[in-house]
Amino acid sequence: MEKTEQDVGRVQELFVELGGTVTDGFPAIHVPVYRTAAGTAYLKSPGVVMLARPQTNVAGLGGFLEGFDPDLGFPEYVNDPTALPASSQLCKTAGQTCYMSFGPRRTTNENAAAYFERLTSAGHGSVLEHSNFSFLLYGISRSVTHELVRHRAGVGVSQVSQRYVSGSVLRFVERPEYQEDEELHRFFEERADGAAAGYEAMAERLLARQEGGSGMLSADYKTDARKKVQQTARSLLPNETEAPMVFTGNVRALRHIVEMRADEHAESEIRNLAMRLFLCLAVADPILFGDYRIQPLPDGTHKVTTRHRKA
Ligand SMILES: Cc1cc2nc3c(=O)[nH]c(=O)nc-3n(C[C@H](O)[C@H](O)[C@H](O)COP(=O)(O)OP(=O)(O)OC[C@H]3O[C@@H](n4cnc5c(N)ncnc54)[C@H](O)[C@@H]3O)c2cc1C
Repeated sequence: MEKTEQDVGRVQELFVELGGTVTDGFPAIHVPVYRTAAGTAYLKSPGVVMLARPQTNVAGLGGFLEGFDPDLGFPEYVNDPTALPASSQLCKTAGQTCYMSFGPRRTTNENAAAYFERLTSAGHGSVLEHSNFSFLLYGISRSVTHELVRHRAGVGVSQVSQRYVSGSVLRFVERPEYQEDEELHRFFEERADGAAAGYEAMAERLLARQEGGSGMLSADYKTDARKKVQQTARSLLPNETEAPMVFTGNVRALRHIVEMRADEHAESEIRNLAMRLFLCLAVADPILFGDYRIQPLPDGTHKVTTRHRKA
């Protein structure tokens, strides 16, 4: 499947359409915060911010490559005139180390896309584990994060602690289905106001019990005391409570997540998130994520597909 100009353009187009920006090489899709008349904060779609991406020192290979027979022409490897995104370069160098493919007959950077196509089509996905990307994810509900954290291999997760944080940072996430229906939208806002008020009232009640010496709620330290109140009060929070996290994944894991979750059969909120993750990744590294195609779905959203699933 040849990559067309149109495919490359579609990534950029959709990225910008969703509010994407790139600052110093780091893509982000920020989203606005809304408030109900009572002041409860909520979001309507996922915010995705790339926090970290690889940096690769190819020149550092010099001292190693110079140690071989000069006839092999290895040192020239560091002078490839085509610059790649550091994430692609790292994986390519890792893969080429396997076969000591540093000489003039190697696949040069100009043909990196074809190189990775060969790897992914053959299932040699371990090479993709070298490059990691980290993201701040927000505007995502507790139900979506529960699905996301089912992906265990090759990822790291640091998610907001509902035991530690207080009601002052409580926000909610409105599903797309509610946004386009006046009545469902009103119900959502009422529920969010109710949950925020209910949480506050419960926290106050629990605090009063704690101060009155309730056994299960008592604690020796201030932080523990607060946790005991919040870990109990959070039980009434709905699935649509926002649960931000920092999420790190290697490229092999991220590709799998995009394939599973930006698929038409995935739940719509996680598809929204996976689509944004994919766009940020494809903008940052159009080679490692260059085999994906964006296709429209009947509901106006999109899915991504690749011929080489699960490298
Ligand atoms: C549309 C959809 C519907 C779903 N419905 C449900 C549901 O009803 N109930 C439910 O519980 N879950 C459901 N899931 C979650 C699903 O079962 C997986 O838990 C989730 O998608 C994580 O993917 P993964 O298992 O590939 O794990 P990842 O952690 O992403 O792992 C990537 C790959 O590494 C390998 N791997 C990882 N861990 C192991 C291991 N321990 N042993 C061997 N190989 C391993 C596997 O090849 C795996 O595919 C659903 C997911 C989707 C996309």
